[in-house]
Amino acid sequence: MNTLLPTSTVGSLPKPSWLAAPEKLWSPWKLEGDELTAGRQDALLVTLSEQDRAGIDIVSDGEQTRQHFVTTFIEHLAGVDFTRRETVKIRDRYDASVPTVVGPVFREKPVFVDDARFLRAHTDKPIKWALPGPMTMVDTLYDAHYRSREKLAWEFAGILNEEARALEAAGVDIVQFDEPAFNVFFDEVNDWGIAALEKAAEGLRCDTAVHICYGYGIEANTEWKKTLGSQWRQYERTFPSLQASSLDLVSLECHNSKVPLDLIELLRGKKVMVGAIDVATTAIETPEEVAATLRRVLDFVDADKLYPSTNCGMAPLSRDVSRGKLAALSAGAAIVRQEVSPRMVAA
Ligand SMILES: [Zn+2]
Repeated sequence: MNTLLPTSTVGSLPKPSWLAAPEKLWSPWKLEGDELTAGRQDALLVTLSEQDRAGIDIVSDGEQTRQHFVTTFIEHLAGVDFTRRETVKIRDRYDASVPTVVGPVFREKPVFVDDARFLRAHTDKPIKWALPGPMTMVDTLYDAHYRSREKLAWEFAGILNEEARALEAAGVDIVQFDEPAFNVFFDEVNDWGIAALEKAAEGLRCDTAVHICYGYGIEANTEWKKTLGSQWRQYERTFPSLQASSLDLVSLECHNSKVPLDLIELLRGKKVMVGAIDVATTAIETPEEVAATLRRVLDFVDADKLYPSTNCGMAPLSRDVSRGKLAALSAGAAIVRQEVSPRMVAA
């Protein structure tokens, strides 16, 4: 990246109401077949122009291409039966009815590669593409075949690597793996989670990122956060091994969060996507609030490795709120960029 403090979003942005019911997570499509394909592409162009108008530097599809950040990817794989559902506890937090792994999993065809090519054709900016991480995929399924979370994660890592290589070939500049499960299963993260992630990122020349957060602003997450005490030190358990990993960027939440910011020091040397926008409130940050979060983080991240971003996805927010937050992110980053660049030149 040539721009100092390049802005981006973590992933999802609100969908237009003609594509899926707004202000709702995982809302079903309103179109089908060819109309759905065309509708998703139109929505991608809308979300791209909103990112452009707000001055976002690294753009994405805003996840207009998927209903759910994990299951839409899994729907494209062989070995998973979506009609056989079991209720399991996800992230050790809430019960959900999930599909069943019934045989060997593999990728029959590319999943998001055409969508990424479409995005690439419509912008000259760097683009980032999000995929689910292996551990989070495992944690969103019932496994009646491998009967081992580690083994299944390893299989998914191979599949993700095929998809990530194809995304890179389609012109994606940053492949991001979403691993909210990394904030829950610390022993597994260090035993095999990061190794699986490295396998998913193996051989890529583009930048690779991992996003670890405290989730969307939904009730199950808000209730969980209340149990975490006054200091959220979860990152402390995984950052040392992530610092030593082959991943280039770590995306984390900071703004309005109880994460002690000095934990970011554990990542020194990595690029850090800093969440400076709270996705769990409809209140729109002021540029000054965004700038204040970024300034505090600069104690722990070198300025040339700081990527201002959102805490998580913004799919459940209204489009007005999302637009306001994107503009605040951009304006806040611009304030700090002004302060930092003379220092960078002097150095
Ligand atoms: Zn997130």
